Amino acid sequence: MNKGIDAVMAVAKRPEMVFVQGKGSWLWDRRGRKYLDFVQGWACNSLGHSPSLLVDALSEQAAVLLNPGPGFYNEPMLQLAELLVEHSVLDKVFFANSGAEANEGAIKLARKWGQLHRRGAFEIITLQQGFHGRTLATMSASGKPGWDSLFEPKVQGFTKVPPHDLQALQQAINDNTVAVMLELVQGEAGVLPLDKGYVQALAKLAREQGLLLIIDEIQTGIGRTGSLFAYEQYGIEPDIMSLGKGLGGGLPLAALLCKEVVSCFDYGEQGGTFNGNPLVCRGGYAVLRAVLAEGFLSKVQGNSQALRQGLEGLSEKYGLGEVRGMGLLLALNVGVLSSAEIVQQAMAEGLLLNAPRDNVLRLMPALNVKGREIEQMLQILNKVIGEVKHGTD
Ligand SMILES: *Cc1c(COP(=O)(O)O)cnc(C)c1O
Repeated sequence: MNKGIDAVMAVAKRPEMVFVQGKGSWLWDRRGRKYLDFVQGWACNSLGHSPSLLVDALSEQAAVLLNPGPGFYNEPMLQLAELLVEHSVLDKVFFANSGAEANEGAIKLARKWGQLHRRGAFEIITLQQGFHGRTLATMSASGKPGWDSLFEPKVQGFTKVPPHDLQALQQAINDNTVAVMLELVQGEAGVLPLDKGYVQALAKLAREQGLLLIIDEIQTGIGRTGSLFAYEQYGIEPDIMSLGKGLGGGLPLAALLCKEVVSCFDYGEQGGTFNGNPLVCRGGYAVLRAVLAEGFLSKVQGNSQALRQGLEGLSEKYGLGEVRGMGLLLALNVGVLSSAEIVQQAMAEGLLLNAPRDNVLRLMPALNVKGREIEQMLQILNKVIGEVKHGTD
């Protein structure tokens, strides 16, 4: 039954089931068991599993042109870049295959810009608890607890400050500083939205000091927080922005965006074999068009409200902690209960959830999740929390 499992490098503790099919908010394993999916590939599947518009776009594109190579333009690459530029405050797009790769590009771009415009400044200030990916540089940029001593030596040039401490940020700035890089909602940290006032003050300080503002919207972008990009709700403008996850709707697609004045790579300084390939760009274009369609984002906001209210109801009923987050990136603090145990039990009940921290559940359903699926999820969660709580009483 589990043929092949030994051949896969054990980098994550995975449950036993093997998934064979998905549609919308539902996944099926090869025993034919059905699961309601509120993880959606870690907030990647913006339109749920195998949405037909994405399947159609991919099969059309696969039949026509898969890979002319990164040294040539292709139509989907141009179309998606243009659409992103049209709907953001950024002017230039570089496509990548993963969020970490996009952030790696952001770091390189900031360093290049520092060489050109800030006498070789290269240091990037990031936030404690922040998460920016799993390459050496992006791990070094991250403030994930437990990562400090991994894979030494670190890539140099990252200074971490606590979120919501403007003074610490101010003190960390020196002649070598070139940029500030942050998530607006710290996802891995347990879905912690930063205060608007802090973010605005941070952006103002960065501007005054001539630093670049790098916003990592890999998890928050493409409608996840209820607006196309989270920075819109914060009333700020990034100089550099990274996208990933939801951009491809489940495809390995990410992007590095920047303002015209920041776009300073010379030929040959940035690239990658699969970057901007027509298959995934065509998919990303189909996803972005769907998210931009009239009424789509207001439905995300409606879904968010329904989910939030339901979670607040559970919190009240069982005496749990706060519900936080934005749009369809929400978290429930389960107080003294174990979120891992809840995830485990929920799985047995046919519900997939994520626990980024010991006492935090993260919910990131498809952006087009149905009202009745939210209700179903809440019913199962109610049952599971009731049982787990009973077990600890
Ligand atoms: C997931 C994530 C990344 C890394 O993206 P990968 O595609 O896994 O490399 C970086 N930053 C944030 C905020 C993320 O959520």
